[in-house]
Amino acid sequence: MNFDRYDAVLLDLDGTIYHEEHALPGAVELLRRLQREGRKFACLTNSTSSPQRIAERLRRMGVDLPDEAIYTAGAAAVDFVLSADFRSGQDRLPRVYSLATEGVHELLEGKVEWVRSAEQPCDGVLVGTSTSAFATEDRQRVALEILRRNRDVKLVGICADRVYPSPRGIEFGSGAMTMMMAYAANVKPMFTGKPEAIFFHELCGRLNVKPERCLLIGDNLESDIAGGKRVGMKTILTLTGVARREDVERLPVEQRPDGVIEDLTAM
Ligand SMILES: [Mg+2]
Repeated sequence: MNFDRYDAVLLDLDGTIYHEEHALPGAVELLRRLQREGRKFACLTNSTSSPQRIAERLRRMGVDLPDEAIYTAGAAAVDFVLSADFRSGQDRLPRVYSLATEGVHELLEGKVEWVRSAEQPCDGVLVGTSTSAFATEDRQRVALEILRRNRDVKLVGICADRVYPSPRGIEFGSGAMTMMMAYAANVKPMFTGKPEAIFFHELCGRLNVKPERCLLIGDNLESDIAGGKRVGMKTILTLTGVARREDVERLPVEQRPDGVIEDLTAM
């Protein structure tokens, strides 16, 4: 496939580029080709960690990518926290209480004022998964108190995924954790990962491209295909992950991807 008609190629990671600890067919070749042809591209994941940490994991699989070529839901949450919207347009550091990962903490360190107790003013509570380093039970309790005290505090879930797989089995995802906080505090959360438009818009801002000039390739009909289509991207579904061809055929025509491939060797 010739990518000349696109300004950027966006590739999902889990189920598209790799599965568990190995690269999927055609993935390494496609990434090398995009680099060789000097094209703008990015690899996307709803991981609550930082691009740096994902890049290290990919290197162990033999996929060598610069940190800038990776965009995680964690990075999207960081971009939102550092935007004027998070601090309601006020000219000061964002004030954050985090139940998120060390990766997100590293990206925000020095750029935010960390809230330490429910008595301090706070712009937003950031929520990762139940196993995130900063999501201890004590910290969950403080976050709940912050949300109950001030209705203006934003509840920001890194992504809305209900669960995620780990070597131990299925874990509570960022979405499940966020909804627990939202239910307890009786507030409405927002999310920054796929398929939210904010994820794709922040990414396009970083790449300096328009969404309608992007090609997105992913394995998930909801988080990748529906999310990309909603912001005007061209989309290709790869069958190496969660979706099957029958799932596509069940969808109304306007919700289907622009193309379906067996794996990335078709690119
Ligand atoms: Mg995927």
